[in-house]
Amino acid sequence: MYIVQIASECAPVIKAGGLGDVVYGLSRELEARGHSVEIILPKYNNMRYDHIWGLHDAYRDLWVPWYGDRIHCSVFCGWVHGRLCFFIEPHSEDFYFDRGTYYGCDDDPLRFAFFSKAALEFLLQSNKRPDVMHCHDWQTGLVPVMLYEMYQHHGMEHQRVLYSIHNFKHQGFAGSEILWATGLNREAYYFHYERLRDNFNPFSLNFMKGGIVYANHVNTVSPHHAWEAMYGDCGFGLGHTLHQKSFKFSGILNGVDYAIWNPEDDRYIPNAYGLSTFEDKALNKKALREKLLLRACDKPIVAFIGRLDDQKGVHLVHHAMYYALNRGAQFILLGSATDSKINDWFWHEKHHLNDHPDIHLELSFNEELAHLIYAGADMMIVPSKFEPCGLTQLISLRYGTVPIVRGVGGLVSTVFDWDYDSERSPEERTGFVFYDTDNYAVESALNRAIDLYYNEPKLFQQLALQGMQYDYSWKHSGEEYIKIYDYIRHK
Ligand code: ADP
Repeated sequence: MYIVQIASECAPVIKAGGLGDVVYGLSRELEARGHSVEIILPKYNNMRYDHIWGLHDAYRDLWVPWYGDRIHCSVFCGWVHGRLCFFIEPHSEDFYFDRGTYYGCDDDPLRFAFFSKAALEFLLQSNKRPDVMHCHDWQTGLVPVMLYEMYQHHGMEHQRVLYSIHNFKHQGFAGSEILWATGLNREAYYFHYERLRDNFNPFSLNFMKGGIVYANHVNTVSPHHAWEAMYGDCGFGLGHTLHQKSFKFSGILNGVDYAIWNPEDDRYIPNAYGLSTFEDKALNKKALREKLLLRACDKPIVAFIGRLDDQKGVHLVHHAMYYALNRGAQFILLGSATDSKINDWFWHEKHHLNDHPDIHLELSFNEELAHLIYAGADMMIVPSKFEPCGLTQLISLRYGTVPIVRGVGGLVSTVFDWDYDSERSPEERTGFVFYDTDNYAVESALNRAIDLYYNEPKLFQQLALQGMQYDYSWKHSGEEYIKIYDYIRHK
């Protein structure tokens, strides 16, 4: 099969969160199974160019219709750790992708509507006709809309779209200007409830809703979250649409790329270790402490890695920091915030705790440091309000770092409580799970974890080893994606 991924991220060259990991890891798995995969991305000025090999201009004169005029683009091509990627660069005064940031601009809907249009034009003009176009999140929600309303009439009638939703919270809203810009036009037609009109704001078009309505199949990134989005409040207003389209909606658990996340062969950690050499994990703990100037002692290290966003339960993260310190643990936080209030809050904490020998806050995005933390920490806390899949707990399991998670979304399906999981035998349990969103819930889970660490070190180690034995690679999920591609191709 010939598959083209159209996305706003691909790790490690463009990564803000799990979306980047998924686009890269899934593509690698598909290729390993003999499929042909290409990835279309925006050419941001702040992406990690050091991770691209052989970047060259592959298509110099791509003219993209925009607002009744045309924008001249160049398409660059290069390999990101073996994956063939095309980067679209518009030459216009809007500088859509020269903002020093991937997201967070006022005109994000226009930027990514343009990217979606340009990706389709690139496929059309360069005569690429993939069997499946796999689009991701709100940024590419308009791809299936434009494919079925415009491009299938220009020679792309056999292309099929799978639309994957990694986060329902961000849906992409715009007014009628988006219709005039992309050439979809026909306001009355698209502002219809059955098409792009937002379910709650009648004056707004919703990109993600468009993706759901027009794609051949839609999925989110865990079966449990698919259920939560349809029947709970995790669909952020799209529950009814998902219900209407439930015949083509499913959940597929994300995988982890074990070629990148593997403690036995990880170039960012000083000491490789595995199941049979687990004691060497302690050497990474030592290296982590030395790097972050934490004192050497016999305390456990509790870590948090993630976007500092309301979704991730920042209040609980904050509480966990101080509670862990009081309970005789060290704490390491690696995170960055786009919200200025959250950013200011954690910078204030960082200054306040600056010389503390048992805590380190690293307020940046740092892929290399993330590897060392997964390897060196004893526990990873993930107190999310909602979590479509969650990769941090899956990576932690691989590194023998015991996850302490809130029981929502993909976290429920991947972490099994040491004390209370009645559905699994003690040998199958992998971490600690709490359900409420108050401080007490975090405290009780942290207490159980820290007590086990101090009082029953052998059992704590056994728990870590049990987690390492699970296989959350792309093997299984890759197969599920291929089944869906096959299904929509032959429908
Ligand atoms: P989300 O997609 O909601 O951000 P996930 O748990 O699915 O959350 O994926 C997060 C990914 O981003 C993981 O690979 C994690 O290690 C990485 N990550 C998050 N924040 C940072 C950071 N500040 N520095 C390095 N890696 C980070």
